[in-house]
Amino acid sequence: MPSSASAAPVIVLFRDDLRLADHRALSAAVGTGAPVIPLYVVDTAHGLGAGETARPLGGAVRWWLHYSLESLSEGLRALGSRLILRAGRPHEVVPQVAAETGAARVLLNETVVPTHRESARRMAAALEDQGVEAVTLRPDALVWPSELKTGTGGHYKVYTPFWKALKQAVGDPETLPPPERLPAPDHWPDSTPLAEFRLTPAMPDWAGGLRESWTPGEDGAWACLHTFIDGALARYRTGRNLPAEVGTSRLSPHLRFGEISARQVWNAVRSMAEPNASTDAYLSEIGWREFNRYQLFHNPDLHRTPLRPEFRLFPWREDDADIRAWRKGLTGYPIVDAGMRELWETGWMHNRVRMIVGSFLVKDLLAPWQVGEAWFWDTLVDADWGSNPGNWQWVAGCGADAAPFFRVFNPVLQGEKFDPRGDYVRRWVPELREMDRRVIHKPWQAPLELARTGYPEPMVDHSHARHRALAAWRGIKDAA
Ligand code: FAD
Repeated sequence: MPSSASAAPVIVLFRDDLRLADHRALSAAVGTGAPVIPLYVVDTAHGLGAGETARPLGGAVRWWLHYSLESLSEGLRALGSRLILRAGRPHEVVPQVAAETGAARVLLNETVVPTHRESARRMAAALEDQGVEAVTLRPDALVWPSELKTGTGGHYKVYTPFWKALKQAVGDPETLPPPERLPAPDHWPDSTPLAEFRLTPAMPDWAGGLRESWTPGEDGAWACLHTFIDGALARYRTGRNLPAEVGTSRLSPHLRFGEISARQVWNAVRSMAEPNASTDAYLSEIGWREFNRYQLFHNPDLHRTPLRPEFRLFPWREDDADIRAWRKGLTGYPIVDAGMRELWETGWMHNRVRMIVGSFLVKDLLAPWQVGEAWFWDTLVDADWGSNPGNWQWVAGCGADAAPFFRVFNPVLQGEKFDPRGDYVRRWVPELREMDRRVIHKPWQAPLELARTGYPEPMVDHSHARHRALAAWRGIKDAA
């Protein structure tokens, strides 16, 4: 269709899909031939209003969002367009921008995020009252959750059959190229300067480690994927468990913000790498991401409510001093403390270590898994609506296809197995830099040296804590 600047414009609403390529709503908008107004609403109201709450974004994610929006904005400018930024509740702001611009249509990609779905439903109703059409393009997922059902028509709760069905359903997903040019409207609506949203921290500026670690945006996402495919992917199956090495893709925050789509990652890995145990293992992790999003779609309250109802009766201990020591990386267990400090410094933590620190919080300290989920939500740059609560429920034994509660990680053995030389601990716990590798995961066995380092003694005895956790679990198991 020919472009016509005098035709009524179409609005493309960006959410967690901050990219130009494989963006179905954007491509569909270009296909109409009408002028396109790209819009992002910074949800400063943190929710839907009228008594309903949503989750305010965490600090690390807000930092990422700032740079991701900056990058998208530059990408749009290169296509002769702009990113319009507004603050407020999307379901109120979008109809307002439609009225200001005389837009005929609003296009957006479907999402599994409950707040975004509810907001889109309300937005569509408000737009309809104005005679504006809202068009939702599906899916921004490998397979849309309602289309993947068990033989009896239910939804999957176990990963292996889900993964089998997913692989079959995905096939070779179509991905779309970025538009070559975006037709601009005669008049651009007002846009709020990005800095006014104060998404990055100022006083204090705690984001130095984040700036050193990451390049948010679509280009950063592709650079990350190519580096991984050319390097660590070949030995991913074993390398992915070693936190001292760069053995994983570090693509999670890019996927979280949709700077790259799961379809694009899927196709790139399958077309650019030899099929082998490592590529299978990697695609299966992309599958876990889909599994968590699938669970979120079917359980919108995933960050609050355990999927196994007996866990509502679990006798958690919410001890503030314990939780503070865990957050600060001062538990006295080096692998746990290294992980918590890596998280604080970089906004990311290695998956193996996430499992260890999660097990320690929930089982050794008996703190509610929701406390750990909330801390990760605030500190991770990849804090994801599905994967964060889904994995915390997995760690706590109350989620879909979760690790059984009685499987309690021993932080010393985990450290010795997955960080055998202690390099990861030395990097993040500098007090222990001089410790001999034979004791680096149990420094209390070298009391004289430990006393010189200032590093704490273990805050709990693991074997005692394990028995306490199992006793608590037996209580709810017998009651179930
Ligand atoms: P890679 O090993 O390179 O994997 C590639 C991609 O697969 C990742 O980017 C991610 O999108 C996906 N993936 C890998 N492992 C998992 C998994 N277990 N569950 C879901 N998706 C996975 N991941 C998040 O993206 N956001 C979160 O908020 C999050 N919270 C977690 C909380 C806990 C307690 C645990 C144990 C895990 C959590 N994970 C989360 C999963 C996992 O730790 C990260 O996805 C992974 O460490 C990201 O690093 P990577 O991109 O190098 O992963």
